[in-house]
Amino acid sequence: MADCLFCRIVNKEVNSRIVLENDDLVAFHDLNPQAPVHILIVPTKHIRGLSECANEDIQLLGKIQLAAKELALKFQLAKGFRFVVNNGRDAGQAVDHLHYHLLGGRRMNWPPG
Ligand code: 5GP
Ligand code: ZN
Repeated sequence: MADCLFCRIVNKEVNSRIVLENDDLVAFHDLNPQAPVHILIVPTKHIRGLSECANEDIQLLGKIQLAAKELALKFQLAKGFRFVVNNGRDAGQAVDHLHYHLLGGRRMNWPPG
């Protein structure tokens, strides 16, 4: 989608610090990190959010989860990490292209604010 920020990052029309990419997904450092490691994982396919996912996306969602695991290993998050999706405005979703936050490198609070 032409006016979608994360589609533009996937298409390299907007610069980002990419840490992993393949046909299914792109992972890159968040511009405004909330933890020492804060990586966003987005599907290359434009999906508005988790609420818009369907059965046809099951493989893709599984690949995103496994990419998070791989990145946690690569960024040495063995002590713990959080993998979060904000879905909808009340949850804090600001960009309407499905994305998961991989956060680590510090102790996390629970419950989240
Ligand atoms: P949301 O609030 O939608 O769950 O998360 C959007 C995330 O995208 C935020 O953490 C924000 O810092 C990040 N972000 C917004 N614009 C950019 C950008 O241009 N580049 C990168 N790398 N991250 C961005
Ligand atoms: Zn998009």
